[in-house]
Amino acid sequence: MVEAMSTSNLILLGIVSFVLVDFLAGAAINYLNEKGKDQPLSAEASGIYNAQEYAKSMEYGSAQYRFDSITSLITTAAMLAAIIFGWLAWLDSWLRERIENELLITVAFIAILITVATIGNIPAGYYSTFVIEEKFGFNKSTKGLFFADTVKQLAISLAVGLPLLYAVAWIYQELQDQFWIVAWLLFVAFSLFMFIFGTRIFLPMFNKLKPLPDGELRTAVENYCHTQGFPLSKLYEMDASKRSTKLNAFFSGMGKVKIIGLYDTLIEKLTIEETVAVLAHEVGHYKRKHVYSMFAWSNLQTLAILALMGWLLGNPNLSKALGSDVQSFHLSMIAFFLLFTPLSTLLGLVSNSFSRYNEYQADQYSIDTYPGARDHMYSALKKLARESLKNLNPHPLYVKVHYTHPPILERLANLKKV
Ligand SMILES: [Zn+2]
Repeated sequence: MVEAMSTSNLILLGIVSFVLVDFLAGAAINYLNEKGKDQPLSAEASGIYNAQEYAKSMEYGSAQYRFDSITSLITTAAMLAAIIFGWLAWLDSWLRERIENELLITVAFIAILITVATIGNIPAGYYSTFVIEEKFGFNKSTKGLFFADTVKQLAISLAVGLPLLYAVAWIYQELQDQFWIVAWLLFVAFSLFMFIFGTRIFLPMFNKLKPLPDGELRTAVENYCHTQGFPLSKLYEMDASKRSTKLNAFFSGMGKVKIIGLYDTLIEKLTIEETVAVLAHEVGHYKRKHVYSMFAWSNLQTLAILALMGWLLGNPNLSKALGSDVQSFHLSMIAFFLLFTPLSTLLGLVSNSFSRYNEYQADQYSIDTYPGARDHMYSALKKLARESLKNLNPHPLYVKVHYTHPPILERLANLKKV
């Protein structure tokens, strides 16, 4: 007689299949994107690139394609090896021999995983910055800056993540049944803090933000901000040029604590009118309350995840699936998130489509509030695409999975239409 599969083996089988399917689907979509990008240069697109630049953008896309294929293969193989060969269970028992407190075992376990993942990612990050970005003329970072960034990012994720993890594991240990709702309230408070202060606290650790200097641009910006009732004191120029030549702008914060940041590279390459049109787009994100809807959406997702966790985490088969007979918060949580892979892909699709919709709204706001913005936004977006060698023909599936902004040609077409 064939023996029925144990629940923990069934979970393990589920985890391995989900990770594999996720990898294969991702690889297939990358492949479609790579094969579909080589199309004749249309009349609309010829305003972005000449033939030579267009060829260069294809070459850049192919370099990224090869890089993504190899890194995701290595990451998936490492993840599957850790799951199948029981490396996670081994680390858990190694820590148990040295630490008695269950909560501290959880914190040490995750701290080691974060550190190993960060160190493991260094070669890929280094190659991406100093080989690919360098070859296409984007890189401005130095080796010293690259390693300083890596160390700072690791220190921040440990300093912020570990106390939060400790608190959640403690809530789980003490409450079990009401865990999900109490942990959710903690996450709401934490994400409220991060939405409001996150950029203001962490960005200055990596970049210098300074008020826009006096001059023609500042006057144009002052005039626009005055018409919109947006405080000019919240407008900053950021020294992005110390890492990359690429251009960008961003809005962050909530309520009275808000920031609009313009990259110095953007200010340098766009005309004054184009810069104000882009700024008007960022003000649009604020006026259309996109931060609030993103905040609500992200907390709704957390609630769903925690409710599922509260329901499933007590099952000892989760830890067992990863090879440990000792039930622990951290191993069960990792097994849970691996099982959650299909749902998290789905949630990602919704978030991206939501974000792309918001981009159209912000473009519309720029047109509605800044005279001439339609044309200025049009030429600004073309420059932005050219300066970062954007793919003009991304595959629709690739867009759904990876794009938080509409593809450039669709966005330009929309500007003409609205
Ligand atoms: Zn935007």
